[in-house]
Amino acid sequence: MKEIKIKASKEYDVIITSGWHNLLFQLENHKLKNFYIITDENVYNIHKTYFDLLTDKASGIFIIKAGEDYKNYDTISMIYEDMIKKKVNRKTAVIAIGGGVVGDLAGFAASTFMRGLRFVQIPTTLISQCDSSIGGKNGYNFNYIKNLIGNIYQPDLVYIDVNFLKTLSLREYINGMAEVIKYGFVCNKDFFNYLNDNKKGIMEREADKLLHIVYECVKIKGRVVEEDELDTDKRHILNFGHTIGHGIESASDFNILHGEAVSIGMAAESFIALKLGLIDTKSYDKLISLLKFFNLPVKFDLKIENILEYIKKDKKKISNDNKLVLPDGIGHAIITSEIKESFIHETLKEFT
Ligand code: NAD
Ligand code: ZN
Repeated sequence: MKEIKIKASKEYDVIITSGWHNLLFQLENHKLKNFYIITDENVYNIHKTYFDLLTDKASGIFIIKAGEDYKNYDTISMIYEDMIKKKVNRKTAVIAIGGGVVGDLAGFAASTFMRGLRFVQIPTTLISQCDSSIGGKNGYNFNYIKNLIGNIYQPDLVYIDVNFLKTLSLREYINGMAEVIKYGFVCNKDFFNYLNDNKKGIMEREADKLLHIVYECVKIKGRVVEEDELDTDKRHILNFGHTIGHGIESASDFNILHGEAVSIGMAAESFIALKLGLIDTKSYDKLISLLKFFNLPVKFDLKIENILEYIKKDKKKISNDNKLVLPDGIGHAIITSEIKESFIHETLKEFT
């Protein structure tokens, strides 16, 4: 078992372990006694034993339909209604057991119901264990805009059981690997090298590898969140691959998964860095071959104009407040608003 303390506006523990033997103790230890659980149908059906463990102390379990399509206000509204019905009160802690969709919705419900209840994240996907359960961003999609409504509300405890990752589909697992590689490539060279040296074991989901990668990612994300909880400057570094990635996600009509789009985004943004002389060919090739090892895509066959159009519409615009995260060596990056759209356009033409 590993433990990381995150000191943001609220100080909280992240427990990283394999198995749930420690869960009840940890909840008790954090004085979390009455629960209201939010999960999705897949997690509930595959991991019934988890719920058996907690149902005695739960005033209710709300099971949402799985997937991004349900990350909306209708679901939030149904959760509020159920919370009222189940007599959830200020002594109740909301527990999210699921991927990023469940975590973002449950966090929003917890932070708004009765002006804020205590909140526990039990993330079950690689994306949620390495990324979304840490840092307190919650919310839902509105008017077809992702995460338009939301807030930042830190959890009281994050309990990560890496065994959950063994039941993820290969596609969802690899989807999360894109974010894992992102942390290494722009935040920590040793970690990037670890991923390269241990890629086979990671692909096979060996327990010690899972524990290590989740631990390193939580440490990296935790430090970034501590420095810039409200996402005003330093936290932007975690958007590496996301500016172009979001454009690709939208231009593909969300037919590719977020991590897949981020993978292409990282490849494209690194290519821009290469053209600007910020990284050398060797570093660029290392990134591409690691992404390819995990069968992540590194090219797109969409119209560049379409991608750029969506990027301009995105909240994190590349024109106006114009931010792009560009690696300047493995393990670090610059955040810049100096790159002209015409240069990006020309470089992307060469990239495809
Ligand atoms: P998800 O929650 O939709 O989970 C993906 C799929 O895996 C779902 O079908 C789910 O039912 C299934 N699943 C979950 N755990 C499983 C398990 N252990 N075994 C088998 N199947 C399982 O998506 P995600 O990829 O976890 O997260 C994506 C969401 O997270 C997006 O909505 C994104 O906006 C959000 N996000 C938020 C932050 C943040 O900081 N809050 C960061 C990154 C992403
Ligand atoms: Zn992401």
